Amino acid sequence: MKLLYGTSNAAKFEFMQKRVESLGIKLLSLNDIDAPGVDIDESGNDPLENARIKALAYYEALKIPVFSCDSGLYFDGVDEEQQPGVHVRRVGAQTLTDEEMIEYYGNLAETFGGVLTARYKNAICLVMDEENIYEHMADDIASEPFLIVSKPHAKRTAGFPLDCLSVEIESGKYYNDLERIGKIYAEDGFVKFFERTLSGKLKKARGKVLVSACLMGEACRYDGNDNLIPEVAEKFKDAVLCCPEVLGGLLTPRMPAEIVSGNAEDVLDGNARIVTKAGEDVTAEFLAGAYQSLKLAKENDVSMAILKEGSPSCGSCFVHDGTFTGNKISGVGVTTALLLQHGIHVYSEENVKTSPQ
Ligand code: SF4
Repeated sequence: MKLLYGTSNAAKFEFMQKRVESLGIKLLSLNDIDAPGVDIDESGNDPLENARIKALAYYEALKIPVFSCDSGLYFDGVDEEQQPGVHVRRVGAQTLTDEEMIEYYGNLAETFGGVLTARYKNAICLVMDEENIYEHMADDIASEPFLIVSKPHAKRTAGFPLDCLSVEIESGKYYNDLERIGKIYAEDGFVKFFERTLSGKLKKARGKVLVSACLMGEACRYDGNDNLIPEVAEKFKDAVLCCPEVLGGLLTPRMPAEIVSGNAEDVLDGNARIVTKAGEDVTAEFLAGAYQSLKLAKENDVSMAILKEGSPSCGSCFVHDGTFTGNKISGVGVTTALLLQHGIHVYSEENVKTSPQ
C-alpha cells in the first residue's frame, strides 16, 4: 500500500518509513510527487488541529490518501506563556533556525537549574478519502518523558535539532549516545495506529515474511535455547522460518561466534571472517547459511524478513564487536547483509514485537 506522508522533512520521512515498512506500507513524501504548492496555515491550537489542517489541505489538493503528523513540546513546571506547545520553532514573532532553537531551549533549561522535564505530544491525521478520515492524539503516540538540558551534545541530527539537548531519564544519557532513539518519538504507537485503521487493507498488501526460527520458539540458538517472542510468533504464524546458522551446517548447541576484522559486507566479499570464541573459523558455514536463507526467501517470494537483533547472522541494527566482551557496534549480520543486497527489507523483532494484530 502506498501513502503520501505530508512532509518534505527527509529525516522525519525516513524515520516513519522505517516504522511502517514492516506493515507493507510504502510512503511517498512531498519531494516524491509533482505536487502543486499547497498553502497551509498551521494555526491549530494543538498538534491534532495542525495535523488535521495539513492532511485535509494535501488531500484537497492531490486527492490521494495522505497523512500528516504534528508535535507539541511541553515542559513540567513551566508557565503557560513559556510552553512551546505547537510553536516549537516560534518565539514571539521570530521563527528560529535549528541552531537558534538549540540555543533558546538550552538557555531556557539553564534558567530552570540546567534541566527541564519534557514530553512531546504527537498527533496524526490520515485522510483516505472524503469519508474515511482517521485521527489520533493520545499517550500511546506521545513520547516518554525526557530531559531537556542546557548543555548540547556535539552531534546534531538533521531534522531533529532538539535531540542534542535531549537526555533519557532512566540512563541519564543523551539520546544521541543511545542505540535507539525511537522511544522518544513513540514509534510503536504510530505503527499501532496504522494497523488499527488499515487492518483489512494491510493484510492484503503484506507479502510473505521470513522470520528467524529462534524468535518463533525453535531452540536453535547457539546455547540450545530459543528467543521466543510470543507477539512475533502469533503475528507471523504463517511466516517462512529459517535459522541461517543451522542451514549452514552448524550444530546446536555451538560456540558463540562473532564477525572479526571487518563487517558483514566484508565477510560476503571475502575480506573478513567469523570465528568462534575458541578461535575456530566458521566463515564458510555462516556464508552457506546466508545463501541458503536467500534461496529459501526467493523460493517463497519473500519481500520482508524479521530477524533476531544482535546475531552475527541475523542482526539488523547492531552486532557484537568481535572481542567476545559483550560490546555492541552498529552493523548487520551476514544473512541480513545478503538479503538486503537482494532487495529484501530486514527488520528486527524490536520493530514488531509490541504491535497488535
Ligand atoms: Fe538462528 Fe538467527 Fe536465531 Fe541465531 S539469531 S539462532 S542464526 S535464527
